[in-house]
Amino acid sequence: GTSSRRDALVGADLLVPVGGEPRRYVDLDAAATTSASEGVVRAVQEFLPWYSSVHRGAGAKSRVTSARYEQAREALTRFVGADPSTHVALFPANTTEGLNLIAFRLGLTRDDVVVTTAVEHHANLLPWRRHARVRVVDVDRSGTYDVDAVIAALDARPTPRVLAVSGASNVTGWLPDLAAITAAARARGVLVVVDGAQLVPHRPVDVAALGIDVLAWSGHKMFAPFGAGGLVVDRRLLAEGEPFLVGGGAVKAVSHTDVVWADTPDRDDAGTPNVIGVVALAAAAEELLAAAGRNRLHEDLLVRALDDELATVPGLRRLGPTTGDRLPVAAFVVDGMPHEEVAERLAREYGIGVRSGCFCAHPYLSRLFGLTPAEVQQFHDDARVGRADRLPGAVRVSCSSATPLADVATLGEAL
Ligand code: PMP
Repeated sequence: GTSSRRDALVGADLLVPVGGEPRRYVDLDAAATTSASEGVVRAVQEFLPWYSSVHRGAGAKSRVTSARYEQAREALTRFVGADPSTHVALFPANTTEGLNLIAFRLGLTRDDVVVTTAVEHHANLLPWRRHARVRVVDVDRSGTYDVDAVIAALDARPTPRVLAVSGASNVTGWLPDLAAITAAARARGVLVVVDGAQLVPHRPVDVAALGIDVLAWSGHKMFAPFGAGGLVVDRRLLAEGEPFLVGGGAVKAVSHTDVVWADTPDRDDAGTPNVIGVVALAAAAEELLAAAGRNRLHEDLLVRALDDELATVPGLRRLGPTTGDRLPVAAFVVDGMPHEEVAERLAREYGIGVRSGCFCAHPYLSRLFGLTPAEVQQFHDDARVGRADRLPGAVRVSCSSATPLADVATLGEAL
């Protein structure tokens, strides 16, 4: 019963050449992107005849498209446990765009402090650094932090306006205690922004129960295609101010000298939206909700299988926590073999797709490697003169709820 939805993914039986022979591709790179599910493909195919531009069009196709778009907006708000009367879903292309949008929309100044953590993907660090001062909650060598460290950062002066944290690490699969962290921020009146890119595909998120003001995630990590993500936002945060993207659709009136912005959510919906992507995102969300219990059981088996397989490989060192509740994502290095070579040989000799490098989380990797500030500086100096290949890196294997357990055994044998 927990053998996963592998057969429901497009490309689950993809063959790749290994030593001149076709072999089933073993995809252990779900934390980068997942294949689309067949249910998502069906939803898109059914919608394609109605493909049209939203709003303002009077024709039947335009009306159907507009209705589907607004239905998806409500469905995706509910998908993450938010009440459509308090929160609204926007559809940026991905988590990166969503976080850039909200960092801009909050009207931060250089005097504002945003608390974030050393775990973050660059997408949940650089947008904040562009607009405000960032106070970083550090991690220990195991790549985790305590809730107390977050509380200390929230209580430090000046008082922060925003807490921006990942719900799960895309490098180690670590799950911070989101409920405790968000409660601490809420109790202090600090806005809570959660990067859900790694969390949402794996666990149900309850925005209302957690008191999350903003949640961002990407469709392409949850069995939907590229180009549509979710950004669920407390409506009050969007009521005033200039939108991130300005243009058609975001306005009530424009003259040569003046503009009256539209109400939420149109104000933040300039340009012709990616309705197909949004229809796909809604279909993926529905499937995830329906399968949440089964997926959780299967993913817990994957976590244990990864732990067991990786523990038997001589010279392999895990990065990040290897106990407690985690997602089926693991980072490691292998003694005597560069990370790129491990990844390249897994692909070439075994048809296994993994990723190697820093996973868009350089500060986190530098902590996991225990680098000194001088070493980090050296890597930056090297990168500046075109030697970015000197950055240290790791191998990452990552599963989705659709990864067959047997694929983890295949990885273990190959390693
Ligand atoms: N945050 C996290 C935790 C992620 O895992 C990712 C994607 N790897 C992102 C942000 C950025 O997502 P995207 O590239 O889809 O914008």
